Amino acid sequence: MASNGARPAVGFWRETAQLVGAVGRAMAITLRNLFRRPVTVRYPDVQRPYPDRFRGILALVYEKETGEEACIGCRLCEYICPPQVIKVEMLKSEKRNYAKTFTLELYSCEFCELCVQVCPTDAIIMLKSFDLATADRRDLLLDKDRLHALGRQFEPSWATGTRLRDMQAPPKPAKAEARGEVKEPAE
Ligand code: SF4
Ligand code: SF4
Repeated sequence: MASNGARPAVGFWRETAQLVGAVGRAMAITLRNLFRRPVTVRYPDVQRPYPDRFRGILALVYEKETGEEACIGCRLCEYICPPQVIKVEMLKSEKRNYAKTFTLELYSCEFCELCVQVCPTDAIIMLKSFDLATADRRDLLLDKDRLHALGRQFEPSWATGTRLRDMQAPPKPAKAEARGEVKEPAE
């Protein structure tokens, strides 16, 4: 079979055209960005607003009505925590229980949010901030007082145990079904 001498030349020009096209596209992007305002900010002097659903540092909160600590020391968060970074001691009391001690090793936390999801009293929450950088690991061993202080210092995120559990609940049956009014199909 006779060889086709035009083929290598066609391949060369096609590849050259692709290369020029790619360089042109890259230069166009560079040019476009050359006149854009920078996306970086002078953190921490300037802070970006957090997205609505952002969830970061963990904290403990007080009950809104009574002003008492919301944690009842039930230890559910301790049991569910995958890396076992929460330790709680319960303090039994007449009307309700409290957490005698509560520690959270934030430096080993996976931010999985399971502790928030299981909390029956919405006592442990995630805050709308990650701003707790430190050069000393010991600063991230949070005790009960520090966890409450963080809860007062930063804005809470939208997620509470109650809200998260509601989101995961199976959809409620239609009203007719709930009243047992659904007819079986005729055979
Ligand atoms: S977010 Fe997850 S890893 Fe962190 S304390 Fe809660 S359960 Fe543990
Ligand atoms: S934070 Fe919630 S789940 Fe954890 S011990 Fe307190 S009440 Fe129980």
